[in-house]
Amino acid sequence: FRSSEEQRKNQEEKNFSPAPCSLPPAPILLCTRRTRLKKIGQQVMVGDRVIVEEADWAGGRGAVSDVLPRHSQLNRPAIANVNQILLVFAVADPPLEPIQLSRFLIKAESTGVDVLLCLNKCDLVSLEEKQQISDRLLAWGYQPLFISVQNSINIDQIAEYLQDKITVIAGPSGVGKSSLINSLIPDINLRVGEVSGKLARGRHTTRHVELFEMPTGGLLADTPGFNQPDLDCSPEELIHYFPEARVRLATAHCRFSDCIHKDEPDCAVSGDWERYQHYLEFLDDALAHQNQTNQQA
Ligand code: GDP
Ligand code: ZN
Repeated sequence: FRSSEEQRKNQEEKNFSPAPCSLPPAPILLCTRRTRLKKIGQQVMVGDRVIVEEADWAGGRGAVSDVLPRHSQLNRPAIANVNQILLVFAVADPPLEPIQLSRFLIKAESTGVDVLLCLNKCDLVSLEEKQQISDRLLAWGYQPLFISVQNSINIDQIAEYLQDKITVIAGPSGVGKSSLINSLIPDINLRVGEVSGKLARGRHTTRHVELFEMPTGGLLADTPGFNQPDLDCSPEELIHYFPEARVRLATAHCRFSDCIHKDEPDCAVSGDWERYQHYLEFLDDALAHQNQTNQQA
């Protein structure tokens, strides 16, 4: 129930809101990059918002004269202005592997953009099993959205989350990413059950990146480069990609400022939380990666 005061305000806001406009779909222009941009080494990325000069709408040509500031930038895949990563896993078939999910989550967290976790094939498990999974992931700091592409459960909810945003979809193969994309963008017609990296039909390299327009608004990219994430972050930053550890660090400090939370005394983080074992495993990877880089230098 809303108070009458609120109702009145709502009505006023409605009166002031601009009339809904129905613009035709944006035409696509094939653009060159102005010499000035080349001189200063300014690249144009997928997802960039740009200024186009000399737009020839009939001929479908133009020239990019400027690139607007980016609020985010992913490198693999190279996409600018990504708002969120939609991480898709399945509750079963293939079975949900906690360490694999953790690895994807850490990789997604390390990009600095928001992470949405959705668990597909919820038609395959009972209510109790869903509750168990949900409780477990809440302790990790995530609230998963259970979906079933097959039974059209919560697909509208996903479309809503994606509206007016640039979203990158990631997850292991076999979890139903193509099926999900097909149901979100019916015109796209991906072949379900193929090897990953198929959002762009006919593409030949895994470096190809393309954003697809959702009929309900928003842009979606598939990420072949994201499907087997290697964790290449530094040992120091790793802990910050675990939401449940971030909470601990917000209220307590380790004795040593360069603590890597392994076997130092008076560490605020090491303890009995479930993913601490994952942390230790990924830390070993990060330390090995660091050694390798140091040796090469
Ligand atoms: P991708 O490799 O992540 O792109 O997964 P696909 O979309 O190719 O799907 C893999 C398999 O899972 C296919 O056989 C789909 O029919 C099946 N699948 C997709 N969504 C669901 C679902 O919601 N429930 C069930 N039971 N199977 C699904
Ligand atoms: Zn510590």
